[in-house]
Amino acid sequence: MIFTLVSYGIYKVFYAHNVSVAENEAVNLGQMLFEQEINRFIVYDTNGDATLKIGKKQLKQLDEKIHNHLKPLKISKIKLFSKDTEIVYSTDQEIIGRTDSNNPKLKKALSGHVVSNLEKKDVTDIKGEKSFSFDVVEAYIPVRDKKGQIVGSFEVYLDITRYRDELKAIMAASMKLISAVLLFVFGFFYILMRKSVNKLTQAEKSLKLLSITDGLTGIYNRRYLLSRVEEEFERQKRLNETNKSVMSVGYMMVDIDHFKEINDTYGHQCGDSVLKELSNRLSNSLRRYDVIGRYGGEEFLIILPNTEPDEIRRIAERIWKTVREEPFYLNKTLSCAVTVSIGISCLSKRDKDIKTAIKRADEALYKAKEMGRDRIVCIMDEDYTGSADNKRNVLHLSEKRVDI
Ligand code: GH3
Ligand code: MG
Ligand code: MG
Repeated sequence: MIFTLVSYGIYKVFYAHNVSVAENEAVNLGQMLFEQEINRFIVYDTNGDATLKIGKKQLKQLDEKIHNHLKPLKISKIKLFSKDTEIVYSTDQEIIGRTDSNNPKLKKALSGHVVSNLEKKDVTDIKGEKSFSFDVVEAYIPVRDKKGQIVGSFEVYLDITRYRDELKAIMAASMKLISAVLLFVFGFFYILMRKSVNKLTQAEKSLKLLSITDGLTGIYNRRYLLSRVEEEFERQKRLNETNKSVMSVGYMMVDIDHFKEINDTYGHQCGDSVLKELSNRLSNSLRRYDVIGRYGGEEFLIILPNTEPDEIRRIAERIWKTVREEPFYLNKTLSCAVTVSIGISCLSKRDKDIKTAIKRADEALYKAKEMGRDRIVCIMDEDYTGSADNKRNVLHLSEKRVDI
């Protein structure tokens, strides 16, 4: 659009300029012819009144002279009108003697004004051989006697093909220049914008990451974790409604045993490195689609989507072992043993909201602590029909029975 508008603007400006130059040239040509040739044909009567008169003999001479003047010009046509609009001379001799009384431009010229404008005309070349349809400048110039009285008018057609060629060349050069400038400007802004957009996207990403992660451990924070819990619950509900064979969702609460003692013994900073190391070990024990986050101070919540209860238990055991089997290094020389208690629950079809399932995991954790810590306790809904092995440490809520 910019290209078209600028090109059109340039075209309009140069076109107007060229037309005005051509109009001036037509007027100058007319005046030159008048001064050199036509002047002689103004005849004065006894009262001093002037008329334009060209005898037959003079006409031939005049015609030759005018043709000589016009030779260098490709296409031109000249008419000379008397005061009463009669054509007293024309390069087209056939129309001499006719009158053109209804021509408003001629009338204007006869009232003393120079009239010039651009016209499309069928013009015959000066030899009268070829006919062209060309843009010509048509100019009417008043002819005055010695006293300045109007005695007639010239009409000159001037070919402006030369100006059109000039205009074409100017347009071609301008369009190349505009293209180059636009290309450069847009290229420059494109690169600038791309850089800014990249920076912005990067900033947005880091901001989003900051808002959903825990500053110390780098895993998800409680707020984001709960939103994911809710998401999983809604997804599971939809699957249940469509009666698809659905896998369960598991929830695992992991809490460090006697963490307060670690803090008290080794200092808060060492406590922090235990938290970091633990979150690493937990993350590494999980599958790609499991979600882990820091639920509280030294408490972690893990969501295990599409997981059967037996599998949840296996994952819990893996976690429990990776924590207790390797000591936690607090610095280069100092290490301490850490154990965790794990509470597990599974989403049941009877759960009206997510809180119920999370609460079961929480209760399981509490039970594990109560039973002496460093262990896993599952609290399943009473519908649970797991394997015999996994019934160990299973507490059926409805029956209030602990089977270890
Ligand atoms: P239990 O086996 O019953 O879980 O005992 P516990 O000592 O682990 O639990 P308790 O709730 O008594 O203490 C938790 C401690 O965790 C208290 C608190 O100062 C500490 N804690 C919470 N957040 C942080 C943290 O970000 N960094 C450190 N270093 N300590 C923390
Ligand atoms: Mg604890
Ligand atoms: Mg705790």
